[in-house]
Amino acid sequence: RVTMLEQLDMHLSDEPAMLAFGQQIAAAVPSGFTIYLYGDLGAGKTTLVRGILHAMGHQGAVKSPTYTLVEPYTIQQKEVYHFDLYRLGEPEELEYMGVRDYFHEHSLCLVEWPAKGEGFLPEADLSITIEHLTEGRNLKCRATSKKGEVFLQQLGK
Ligand code: ADP
Ligand code: MG
Repeated sequence: RVTMLEQLDMHLSDEPAMLAFGQQIAAAVPSGFTIYLYGDLGAGKTTLVRGILHAMGHQGAVKSPTYTLVEPYTIQQKEVYHFDLYRLGEPEELEYMGVRDYFHEHSLCLVEWPAKGEGFLPEADLSITIEHLTEGRNLKCRATSKKGEVFLQQLGK
């Protein structure tokens, strides 16, 4: 019997390492997948999103959609939604913006500050917690669905 990997921890010493990890995610991520990104301001959540988007083929800038809450991308016929819920007042506001429509079987949703939307945000497949250190960052990746577990096995190889 194969033991499933439940959590993957790593230390990434600089921004290029963070972008490279984003590339690893992009290479293995299935369609219809949601990643929650936890960590303080400046932890590196948007940097990781940039790594993922650039590896998928997006060439422009990637900024946190702080005021608009979500930035949509279409890359090679794939839909990617980058959420930043930092400025979300009440989680109920997600209902008014029709948040569930973004989370479907063909989209990749990357969510910064998911705790702000608790109760109104669809479940994640993977949670990544980034800890800001003096030198580099520690990342904890945890699978939160069956699909997330399968993906985490891939990442761990
Ligand atoms: P957040 O979206 O979490 O607020 P940002 O990605 O906007 O954070 O900013 C993170 C900052 O930390 C950037 O200046 C980036 O260059 C830097 N950074 C990202 N990853 C690492 C890393 N692994 N080690 C050191 N610095 C990093
Ligand atoms: Mg950010």
